[in-house]
Amino acid sequence: MTDTSPKSQTPGQSTLSIWGGEQEHELYERSTQVPVVHSVSFAYKDIDTWHAVALEQAPGHIYSRNTNPTVRAFEDKVKELEGAEAATSFASGMAAISNIFGTFLRPGDRVVSIKDSYGGTNKIFTSFLPPLDIDVTLCDTVEYAEIEAEIAKGCTLLYLETPTNPTVKIIDIKRLAAAAKKVGALVVVDNTFATPINQNPLQLGADLVLHSASKYLGGHADALGGVACGSKDLIKMVYHYREINGATLSPMDAYSFIRGMKTLSLRVKRQNESAMTIATWLQNHPAIELVNYPGLETHPHHDVAKAQMSGYGGMLSFSVKGGLDAIKLFLPRLQYAHMAANLGCVETVVGPPVTTSHVECTAEERAAAGIPEGLVRYSTGIEDVEDLLADLEQALSCLIT
Ligand SMILES: *Cc1c(COP(=O)(O)O)cnc(C)c1O
Repeated sequence: MTDTSPKSQTPGQSTLSIWGGEQEHELYERSTQVPVVHSVSFAYKDIDTWHAVALEQAPGHIYSRNTNPTVRAFEDKVKELEGAEAATSFASGMAAISNIFGTFLRPGDRVVSIKDSYGGTNKIFTSFLPPLDIDVTLCDTVEYAEIEAEIAKGCTLLYLETPTNPTVKIIDIKRLAAAAKKVGALVVVDNTFATPINQNPLQLGADLVLHSASKYLGGHADALGGVACGSKDLIKMVYHYREINGATLSPMDAYSFIRGMKTLSLRVKRQNESAMTIATWLQNHPAIELVNYPGLETHPHHDVAKAQMSGYGGMLSFSVKGGLDAIKLFLPRLQYAHMAANLGCVETVVGPPVTTSHVECTAEERAAAGIPEGLVRYSTGIEDVEDLLADLEQALSCLIT
């Protein structure tokens, strides 16, 4: 007989979205929900206990720039969803990225990455790291021969992001992580677009996985934060850098993430389905020039996506015939979409990269990254997909003569 006792069952992603990190949290007056602990410091009645906690030899908290009970519950939830040993959090996704660089990069080191990383990350690569004598080589995103050759020359850190923003290119994490291992490089993956529901980079060979929690993890566009997961040893190093650097997540934002994440799996599965429906529909629309969505069989990296992702995500992008002028006409006509710079929330959000992900870049830099000025990034919300299609249809009708 098969053993169906609960203990033998590995919890699924919906169960972990809800219960992950919550069974261990510090209970307060028998509350079922993780309390928001608005306290800068934690007081002790005797010096020995205080000392033991301060030395991390006993459980507890000292000062909320370092650790806080609400923040810890959020970290534990993401840790379980990513199947990691440890996690630590930050005031924003960019803080997660810059603190990882601050922890592991020193003058003379070398980073290999891709041209299509998030705009802010790209800015760190092009403007902030070179003056510190850290060499950054940005390769064409899916040119494996070029990336592998650059890795083989020796590097400290390989930084990947997949699907990419906003062109949703897909990079084979397993393949490049294997190349990086050969030269002893640390492999870091920004998993913001995929979410832990669709992709778990640590299982594909990454050493560290990070998220802008401001996007899908929170899911309601009402809290800013970031998180990184990996082995206990690596996360300890990042944590110690961050506690001094000071880019700490606030307890209130941690609480918003905990609440938002309870529906993470539900939301993301709905977004996967709707994005697929919309991408397919857009492909056949006369006003549309091209549609980027990894779930489409016509997507150049569909096979890699199929192998490493369990869902194709809620992000797509498309270009409209007539470029930026056409977008200026069509986007404001959408009734069920915010024209805004965020993504990954319950509402549909649209925006051109020129005002969103790549606003930090010059037109030349965008062109070099293969981003047409007339591209639209479409973050599928959880509205009824029929309404989203009808909305696109009425808005796009103004472009058909
Ligand atoms: C938004 C985003 C970031 C930056 O996160 P913030 O929380 O805004 O600092 C990093 N990477 C990706 C892929 C993002 O979408």
